[in-house]
Amino acid sequence: RVELAGVTKSFGKSQVLHGIDLTIADGEFVTLLGPSGCGKTTTLRCIAGLEDPDGGSIDAGDRTFANADSLRFLPPHRRKVGMVFQSYALWPHLSVTANVAYPMKRRKVPRGEIRQRAAQALASVDMAKHADRFPHELSGGQQQRVALARGLVSANGLMLYDEPLSNLDAKLRIAMRAEIQRLHREFGNTSIYVTHDQEEALALSDRVVIMNSGRIDQVGTPEEIYGRPVSRFAADFVGFEN
Ligand code: ATP
Repeated sequence: RVELAGVTKSFGKSQVLHGIDLTIADGEFVTLLGPSGCGKTTTLRCIAGLEDPDGGSIDAGDRTFANADSLRFLPPHRRKVGMVFQSYALWPHLSVTANVAYPMKRRKVPRGEIRQRAAQALASVDMAKHADRFPHELSGGQQQRVALARGLVSANGLMLYDEPLSNLDAKLRIAMRAEIQRLHREFGNTSIYVTHDQEEALALSDRVVIMNSGRIDQVGTPEEIYGRPVSRFAADFVGFEN
């Protein structure tokens, strides 16, 4: 279970998050959906530990990730979340296997285990045959598969995705959606997925969180959101027609 309570964040004078309350159950796939600049990425980065909230708290299972009152912020690598970004963020000078192994090395996982888990993760995204290649020798879709494998070996139950498919062409995007769903089930993770693509959110999620100007506008299953948008904003955003 991941719980955000009253999370606020400002950059300088501009307040980007105005008190985010959200509880996500184990194994759930939740999408943060909203227009550019509404605070989706900032929310995700607060969960990952790449930003510290100014107010509120974030807990995952029995661990406190962040508590702004007591100024307790768990360092990102100790949160053991898997992250996949829009720009695949692979190391250009490392082979595919070394890229996947990197976060485990940092955490001082024993060598034999690293080799085995990297191989397993690469097999699960159908990239075993490219294990010795380098990122520049791969297509965009293949690079994103490697980034997925790397995220999966880092994740201790929680995966965070920041628009991971937006650099891919339409056909590949749809194929990768299915892949992400399969991996979500297979690894039994909780997944939080940021996108501004409503179709993608609908296709992937157990629940969709609609964000608007640093606030949560509506939370519901795709059917609830599309069937009964509670605000004009949600209605406009999902293209609801009446
Ligand atoms: P997008 O889909 O465009 O990525 P988003 O919903 O993910 O948008 P955020 O990236 O969370 O939005 O940004 C929310 C607001 O915070 C934006 O106005 C952005 O300019 C601002 N912002 C984000 N990071 C910083 C930063 N490090 N310093 C200053 N302002 C920032």
